[in-house]
Order: sequence, then C-alpha cells, then structure tokens
Amino acid sequence: MKHLRTLQTIADDNGGNRDIAEDGFSETANYIESTLREHTDFTVEVQPFPYRLERIVGSPLLEMTAPTAATFSYRGSGGRQFRPLSYSVGGDVTAQLWGPPDGQARTHPPHHGCSPTDFIGFPAGAIALLERGDTESMLAAGLECTFAEAAANAHEAGAAGVILFDANSPNHDSIPRSLRSLGQQALELGVTIPVFAVNFDVVLELRQALTAAPTGVRVHMMVSKTVSELTVSNIIATTRQGDPDNKVVVGSHMDGVRAGPGINDNGSGTATNLEMALSLARLLERGALALTNQVRFCWWGAEEEGLVGSRWYVDHLSDEEISRVALNLNYDMIASPNYIIGTVRPFGDLHTISAQHLTRLLLQYNGAQLAGTDAPMTQQTVCVNAISARRLPALTGLVRTGLSRHHGDVQWIFG
Ligand SMILES: [Zn+2]
Repeated sequence: MKHLRTLQTIADDNGGNRDIAEDGFSETANYIESTLREHTDFTVEVQPFPYRLERIVGSPLLEMTAPTAATFSYRGSGGRQFRPLSYSVGGDVTAQLWGPPDGQARTHPPHHGCSPTDFIGFPAGAIALLERGDTESMLAAGLECTFAEAAANAHEAGAAGVILFDANSPNHDSIPRSLRSLGQQALELGVTIPVFAVNFDVVLELRQALTAAPTGVRVHMMVSKTVSELTVSNIIATTRQGDPDNKVVVGSHMDGVRAGPGINDNGSGTATNLEMALSLARLLERGALALTNQVRFCWWGAEEEGLVGSRWYVDHLSDEEISRVALNLNYDMIASPNYIIGTVRPFGDLHTISAQHLTRLLLQYNGAQLAGTDAPMTQQTVCVNAISARRLPALTGLVRTGLSRHHGDVQWIFG
C-alpha cells in the first residue's frame, strides 16, 4: 500500500497521471530505481529506449462531400467507421476519390497499391482507396506489400491521401485490428500524406458512389497530430545469487494511461513487483533463503503504447541470454475489485513445456491454498506478455492476473 500511495501522490502532483509523456512516469521510474538501490544489493540497470509518441489533437474527420454528403464516425470518439493510422502524418485534404467501384474490388485495376502499375491513370491530387485484400490471396498473386509500401506508391503517384480497407474483415462495422499502423517504414519511405483505415460499411458507401459517379466522388480527410521523440526506460534489477542460467523474470509495466493515475493498471503490478523484490532482498540478506534460480525483476515502460519497453528488452537480448531465462511471470492489474482466484491454462503458442510446467505448479499451489478455477488464456493475455513475442519456449511460461472492472461482470485473478 505504501508504494501505491506514493504512485497516487506522483500522479496527483503531475496532472493526475503517470503517462510516459509526463513527469509522472519519470518520477515513478525514479521511485522504483531509488527504492531498489537503497534497499537491495541487486544489480539495478536503467535501460533507456527511444519512442516516438503520436497523439491525435481534437477529432479527425472523414466525410464524403460529393455527389452526396456523408460524415463517418471516428474510432477514437466512440465511432466505428475510420481511424488515422499511426505513423501517418497530419493533414487536411478534400479531393476526388479514386478506387474500385462496386463489385470490382479484386479484378482490375488491382487497387492494392503494391505496385506502381496499380496507379496507371491515377488522377494526381486524388485520394486513393486501396484494398488490402486477404493476405493469402494477395501473397499468391505476388501482391503482398506493407501498408507503408502501398501508401508510398500512392504518394509517388501523386495521391493527396490514402484510405485503406480490408474486404475480408468478418465484421462490416468494425475496422480490422491489423489496420492500425504504417510503422516506422512510412518515415523511411517519406510518406507525408494522411492515411486512414475504414470499416467495410464505409467502403460499400464509397463504392456505390463510385459506381454512380466514377470521377465525381469527393472526400474530405482531416487529422491533426502532435509527435514527440521521447526517451523512455525500463528498470531491470537482478539478484546476485541464484543460477544465472535459469533466470526467473518477473515483469510488470510501470507506465499508466493519460486518463488517470493508473493505480490498478498497473500500479498494482508495479507495487507487487517492488515489494516482492524488497522482501526477497531482506530474506537473502538475513540468510533466510538460498536462491536456486537467479531472479530478475523488470518494470517496463511504454506498455500502454503497445508493449514498447518489453519488446525493446526482448529484441536486445542475445539468443544466449534468451536461453538463460527459465520462466517469465507478468503482473498486470492484480487489484481487481471483482475477482476469482484461479489458474489460466495456456493454449496455442503458449502451450509449451515451460508454460505447462508453470500451470501445473500453479494448479498445485492454488489447489492447496485456494479454490482453484481454470480459465482459458486469451489472445490478449498473449499480447500482455511481450516476452512471448519471440516465441521461444523457455520464455513462454506466464501468469495472468486480474482484469479491471470494465472488462466484464466477472473478473479473474490468476497466479
Ligand atoms: Zn496494464
């Protein structure tokens, strides 16, 4: 509780949050680092990494202005129809829409944007409506390219903006999750036009208009963004005792969202991780414990931006270092007000020997101590643990903790 009160005070003193763009994040990191240095003999390392933080200012717009008027709803304001992609620049353009009319999506011209020849006859200054199609048929047709490459080809052909869609999205009224970001490559390719993703309902409406008036559809795209180049950090504290070839990594993200102090998400994991480190240090100091495995406590930065810190950490480990990790435990939101105690069963990629071993251990522990409950491990769980992103068996043992109240009526605490 002492750590949580400190995190709340840090948020209160810094505009109510511990977001990576604000001092609330660096003060959180400083608190963890100084507490570890003061109270443990662990090796404490601060691992800085660069992060490009994009924030959308105000509400972006996507409208059809001719031949009929239609305004589409922005994903970030509770709408479901469009969103600007990350790494797309800001901009405000109104121009003719160029794209496939109804029923001609995958015929000719291809409109995937993967080749400059897709833009033969493209009217300079127009907005390109590009279909991503399903990856498999695109691959088979040799059409696979990144969103950034398609946007760069459109830009090269003189486009003022790009609208991307996926014809194979199962839900017409939602934007596929894959259509989120152009990635760093957009900067490398010099894409300086706005790029939006839309759901298939929008596409149907635009295509209908294109069928009726192939050159008479006009669209307005507007988005304003701020971009800051930040240096964020992870904190990594490792015990001096224990087998370094079989490390147990205990992680939690220490950043919070902009909307609040982040005491459950993830002050709860941050504080638990810190208190575990301090308790372990005290036990080791008193000689009350002999460590079998070396323990590494990690506090990740920029998790809320998409697991940036933990991915950075994993990406900068050598294969040899990876092979020395026996297990990873991840704590995110473990102060659910509406919990069930249980153990998550791994599935799919996580169904590895170490994950199974961990699950068995937890089932034993929970069975002895508490009323155990099994629950399927969700894809979200997989995402939370970026360590598993490298898909190495040694790293994919995982503990999931509670979700917050807004995720549903019944919550889980695992581990
Ligand atoms: Zn979280």
